[in-house]
Amino acid sequence: MRTIGLLGGMSWESTVPYYRIINQAVKETLGGLHSAELVLVSVDFHPIEQLQHRGEWEATGRILAEAAQSVEAAGAECLVLCTNTMHKVATQIQKSVGIPLLHIADATGSGVKSAGMLRVGLLGTKFTMEETFYRKWLEDNHKLEVMIPDEQDRDTVHSIIYEELCLGIVQERSRATFSGIVETLVGKGAQGVILGCTEIAMLLRAEDCPVSLFDSAELHAKYAARWALTETR
Ligand code: GLU
Repeated sequence: MRTIGLLGGMSWESTVPYYRIINQAVKETLGGLHSAELVLVSVDFHPIEQLQHRGEWEATGRILAEAAQSVEAAGAECLVLCTNTMHKVATQIQKSVGIPLLHIADATGSGVKSAGMLRVGLLGTKFTMEETFYRKWLEDNHKLEVMIPDEQDRDTVHSIIYEELCLGIVQERSRATFSGIVETLVGKGAQGVILGCTEIAMLLRAEDCPVSLFDSAELHAKYAARWALTETR
């Protein structure tokens, strides 16, 4: 088994499930008392969130590149960046280390393709929904057609992520709002919906939606576990 390196804390609420899902996957495969070999470096999200909203992405990349070097120095053989949004600086981070970054959009795109879907809705931060770094990755590398909500709904999703979910706040009202946004996407032709923000699964459950949901955090964690179990040294 190879050692997985998690770079988490963005937010810490969504890093917790990564640890559980990876260990469950290793246990399911190897049985008994087997558990994952992994290291976790967790950053303080506050300064990163401030820099994101000021558009200072290069600075966020420097912080995460340094954290990624600590992950590598601790013995990790791959890097798992536990957030969709910060993949905006994935290239900068990858350049700072010698271990491979397992891209969250590859894990997510493969999950959607295995379900046989081609046209999916995408929910996430405004950075993830509006910019090209995530959508284009899915379109170019996984040949998916990606649909996003209209501007007002994107603002709503973004606010709920930062003002509630990243703080561990789960409200029924917000669940109903998200479920309405999913229904609108489905009405426009989405066959399934990507939860392209690692906190959304705290709020939106399968029973709240008429189509399949693809939780990027779960798919990413399982992808990392498979990588650790199947890749040869
Ligand atoms: N965890 C979120 C994501 O997957 C948002 C927090 C962040 O900005 O990293 O995009």
